[in-house]
Amino acid sequence: MEATLICVYQLMQLWRIVCITEEDVIECKYSIRLRWRLRSLKKNWVQEDDISLWRNEKGKYKKTFSTKGTWSCIREMHLLCDWYHAIWFDYATPKFSFITWVAMRGRLTTGDRMLRWNGNSDTSCILCQEPLETLSHLFFECPYSAQVWEALMKGVLKDQYTVNWDALVGLITGASSWSKTKLFIARYMFQSTIHMVWKERNRRRHGETIAPAPLLIRRLDKNMRNQFTVIRRKGGKEYGDGMAF
Ligand SMILES: [Zn+2]
Repeated sequence: MEATLICVYQLMQLWRIVCITEEDVIECKYSIRLRWRLRSLKKNWVQEDDISLWRNEKGKYKKTFSTKGTWSCIREMHLLCDWYHAIWFDYATPKFSFITWVAMRGRLTTGDRMLRWNGNSDTSCILCQEPLETLSHLFFECPYSAQVWEALMKGVLKDQYTVNWDALVGLITGASSWSKTKLFIARYMFQSTIHMVWKERNRRRHGETIAPAPLLIRRLDKNMRNQFTVIRRKGGKEYGDGMAF
């Protein structure tokens, strides 16, 4: 009886050996490797406190926090637009740059845009009564704004003088052969005139007193001169010939 039991046990052992599959062998190998890996890691373990790490835009983790890096990491990246030099430049006036940036993005609430939101809107140009006020009409094809622009810029732009929006944007953004001062005057006057004309347009729409074109011209001219004085006071010597234009 005992001999029979031993025989059955041996048979069972043999059965277990025979039943080991290829997956079992692989699993066994991984298990051994993992154990060795853990053992080697344990040798190098150093007791340290947990620290916070900041991931930058390249996906690397740094100990120091960078506002710029974090902003680059979370913001949506776009291609650089080719006209930003004409909006954001040294000695620009922020409120002029901002309104020009809005205009360049096509976001000013001109008559044609208001028409898309509400069919009953008054879409006419308040400055000349043209039935449809558009961006290119307001800057500077409208007789009122054209009068202002011509008085200020015809002498500067000479044979390149234009009231066409696209042509003007091309002039102030393109790499022209203009001097640094001429480019600055063109950009600054472009922005300040947009600001003044838009302000005048809004004033009239809200029933305020009308400012005639010559008044706007005087204000803009004074504005430009004041800006050159500010630049000189700040120590900027690059536009020293600005008053000569
Ligand atoms: Zn008009």
